[in-house]
Amino acid sequence: MIKIDVLQLERQELDIAGTESVTFLEMEDTELMQLKDNVSYQLHVSLVNSGVLVAGSVKTAIHCVCGRCVKEFTQTVENSSICRYYEDVTAPELDITEDIREEMLISIPINYLCSENCKGLCPQCGIDLNKKKCKCHEEKTGSDVWTALDDLKL
Ligand SMILES: [Zn+2]
Ligand SMILES: [Zn+2]
Repeated sequence: MIKIDVLQLERQELDIAGTESVTFLEMEDTELMQLKDNVSYQLHVSLVNSGVLVAGSVKTAIHCVCGRCVKEFTQTVENSSICRYYEDVTAPELDITEDIREEMLISIPINYLCSENCKGLCPQCGIDLNKKKCKCHEEKTGSDVWTALDDLKL
């Protein structure tokens, strides 16, 4: 649970940092993605007019499989642009757990790539094109490329 002590906030701005276990995100692991790390957050909380302003970042690490070359890797996912405003807060305590969860979830990608430039696997022979070149790839991009395109249209 991530809560803000509003009474304390009336005296001074707050910096809140902490971690939540991965179960916090309520996400099911899949074959393509497993949550590995705790979710950590760093928030600066201040009173603006009669509302509460929360700004900061939240991050975690996911273990995933590249959508192109099926390499497994771990990626840090961070949302450092959290900015939420709660109007007219009257309760002594403000629970922002759900909102921080949401801020984390929207930052987790749907497709995972080990790198933007990943060449992936050859669709014909299955070789990892990041490591090796194969003959079928050369043929496709060689002088016969137009013939290959014509074949596709048929
Ligand atoms: Zn890859
Ligand atoms: Zn190939």
